[in-house]
Amino acid sequence: MQNHLTNRDIRDIYSLQSGMCAYCGDKVGLNYHVDHIDPIKLGGANTVDNIAIACPACNMSKGSKKLLHFFAWKNQTGERVTVLRNGY
Ligand SMILES: [Zn+2]
Repeated sequence: MQNHLTNRDIRDIYSLQSGMCAYCGDKVGLNYHVDHIDPIKLGGANTVDNIAIACPACNMSKGSKKLLHFFAWKNQTGERVTVLRNGY
């Protein structure tokens, strides 16, 4: 498995997302989680193109769901979903 993630990468993604959760759009401030879009458990890579900044609530509810499963689950619960990252 590739592992090329640095603190710099995480800061870059944080500023790319303007400090907002990738899933609900809330400002995360300093209380953010680094989410693996494709969970490591399901074969996702620990690389820049597989991570997103998320608020703790979204990250915990996403858990090890794949992104599309997470969105389907969010839609069922009626929560609004916003994807802020480019390329997704
Ligand atoms: Zn969120």
